[in-house]
Amino acid sequence: MRLTPKGILFAALILLLFISVLTRLNSKENPADYQEYGQPAEPNEIIIITDTKEEVISMYNHRDKKLVKMPMEEYLTGVIAGEMPASYELEALKAQTVAARTLVVHQMPEYGGRGCNKHPDADVCSSYAHCQEWISRDQMRKNWGEDFENNLIKIQQAVQQTKGLIMTYNEKAIEVFYHSTSNGKTEEVSEVFSNPLPYYTSVDSTGDENAPMFEGSVTLTNRKFSEIFESRYGVKLDSDNLASQIKINSYTDSGRIRDITVGGKKMRATEFRLLYGLNSTDITFVFGKDSITMKTKGFGHGVGMSQAGANRMAQQGYSYKEILQHYYKGVEITHY
Ligand SMILES: [Zn+2]
Repeated sequence: MRLTPKGILFAALILLLFISVLTRLNSKENPADYQEYGQPAEPNEIIIITDTKEEVISMYNHRDKKLVKMPMEEYLTGVIAGEMPASYELEALKAQTVAARTLVVHQMPEYGGRGCNKHPDADVCSSYAHCQEWISRDQMRKNWGEDFENNLIKIQQAVQQTKGLIMTYNEKAIEVFYHSTSNGKTEEVSEVFSNPLPYYTSVDSTGDENAPMFEGSVTLTNRKFSEIFESRYGVKLDSDNLASQIKINSYTDSGRIRDITVGGKKMRATEFRLLYGLNSTDITFVFGKDSITMKTKGFGHGVGMSQAGANRMAQQGYSYKEILQHYYKGVEITHY
């Protein structure tokens, strides 16, 4: 075959086109540390149709240590999936969605917030211990197995049915705290976090005692308990006589311990709880011969909505608005 100049040009063009397609396939559309979310990762991935006018949030993902951008409602789906059992009632999931949306709006710089204070440029991070949990579709699939599609649809319903709604107080997004299970009452915010806030008072949370996370317990040998304390504070405890060295100084109105003295060192129970990895600050000590057991009621700091309590209220027929207004006093539920 003879190649004419036209033929060579044509072949070169085809080659160029082929190379450019290959390059596109291999390159990421964004810098490695900043990726857009929402592209299906697998052929059978459920494709998310997103409203282009929708609010976009930026999240620092602790799992892959990347800052990602995604539509608000897509972000919330991952939050609810990570923060609340999908088996909970729809109204409880809706209450959780409004709480989660309020948390991020409160932090977004465009609404006067300061973002996630651990990760610059992020509105929010994916850690439950800092901002709020967020999980990916892959993680949902792992967690849920064959329930994946049904659970996802249920959570997407909760997100869509509360679209754009947040809790406000004096026309501002409130600062949101919520937890897994209370000890029967929620905690005053100033007992756990620095500032008092008018919408956080201690309220009854009935039904939490039937929740699976209600009772907890940590047992340590006396020696181990003492070692942990000494390595943190440099205070040596008499391992043979722990009962005489642990003194509860005061309780909060909700029945949790406020201050405790251990080996002469006075501290907040919230700090003590973290030191020993306890579920809550509602602690009962049981002293054995060689061991100490710390029994707890409730799971979490106790401030704001109890998720178990929200589910119980939903079972009793309360709407998500009634649930929220029970746990967050005087708030309005409105579009932001
Ligand atoms: Zn954060």
